[in-house]
Amino acid sequence: MDSKQWIESADRVLMHTYGRYPIVLERGDGVYLYDRDQKKYLDFGAGIAVFALGYNNQEYNNALKAQVDKLLHTSNYFYNIPAAEACEKITKMTGLDRVFLTNSGTEAVEGAIKLARKVYYNKYGKADGEIIAMNHSFHGRSMGALSVTGTPKYREPFGTLGGIVFADYNNYEDVAAKVTKKTCAIIMETVQGEGGLYPAEYEFLQKVRALCDREGILLILDEIQCGMGRTGTMMAYEQYKIKPDVVTLAKALGCGVPVGAFVAKEEYAAALVPGDHGSTYGGNPFAAAAILKVFELFEKQQVLENVREVSVYLEKQLDVLEEKYACIKERRGRGMMQGLEFDRPVKEIIKKAMDAGLITFSAGERIIRFVPPLVIGKEHVDEMIKILEPVIAEEEQ
Ligand SMILES: *Cc1c(COP(=O)(O)O)cnc(C)c1O
Repeated sequence: MDSKQWIESADRVLMHTYGRYPIVLERGDGVYLYDRDQKKYLDFGAGIAVFALGYNNQEYNNALKAQVDKLLHTSNYFYNIPAAEACEKITKMTGLDRVFLTNSGTEAVEGAIKLARKVYYNKYGKADGEIIAMNHSFHGRSMGALSVTGTPKYREPFGTLGGIVFADYNNYEDVAAKVTKKTCAIIMETVQGEGGLYPAEYEFLQKVRALCDREGILLILDEIQCGMGRTGTMMAYEQYKIKPDVVTLAKALGCGVPVGAFVAKEEYAAALVPGDHGSTYGGNPFAAAAILKVFELFEKQQVLENVREVSVYLEKQLDVLEEKYACIKERRGRGMMQGLEFDRPVKEIIKKAMDAGLITFSAGERIIRFVPPLVIGKEHVDEMIKILEPVIAEEEQ
């Protein structure tokens, strides 16, 4: 069957929940993807900020294969060594104490919400704790995670959880004004991803942290997209000299194996007791071995150092585009999580760039998002600009 036939066949059986590009990807190597017709694409999407180490990393693949032959799954009624090791790494990275491993980012957010509600329940004997979330946030698609997602059109048809109020991101007064006696948590991304590549302002996060301390509110930071080195530090919040009470992780944590985690300070983690939460697959030996190897390879390949160096170059080259083309309104972001906001919808630009061999995603209607593998070099930035610039130039005419 050719690509067109595979697409038809898929469209007969898949639910139509995504606007897919008519491309059938078949394999990946480094920072490149290849479709079924062997067309090559430079990948500045990384499977939505997932493949930090690039594709077909032999050491990573070998670690997965070895674990498949050893032990895939055990259930959480037993201990397994990769999970113990992986969680040790996660606590060191986050500066927090206890980890619950999940299969996705959404589930990590779900767990964090349950944790906050349980802490409140233990304190007041009631389950009516309120959560403050941010406008334009994205936290996932399950009923709980969707309830704290700041895009009304995603939530409205589904009758999401009560007790959630939304405040404006980077607007401390608005957040503070939404606090009530029932507020049990404030949840936000340290750098908003889907909502448009907005980093939290330094003062804002400092003040929200102080507010949470004063009022006994849990600060939950969602670092599913901006964490794992993407902004130049393992956790984006390191740059704010604060620590959350709970952090959620996923995406690059597994670099392609579906994993996630929520991580909490001891005093809050203790609120969840046997029977409160669980997952059949969560933290199984295979998934945990993937996480462990990701941490090892981050060190060995000096991924953080690369992000710090190359992202400065990426920013500079995007700034050049911004200055040159009037249709680009702003460049925003941090590290290897960058966005170009246009004065018009970017769908066509992204499509034309894809035809020319460059994969990017949008974030909202008017922003092109750049979340490449964290191992790209400056030459890949040049290659990206070389493909993208003529498309923008043509668009502007
Ligand atoms: C992707 C994402 C999620 C959801 O993660 P899934 O693995 O898709 O469930 C949650 N929060 C943020 C900030 C994300 O970028």
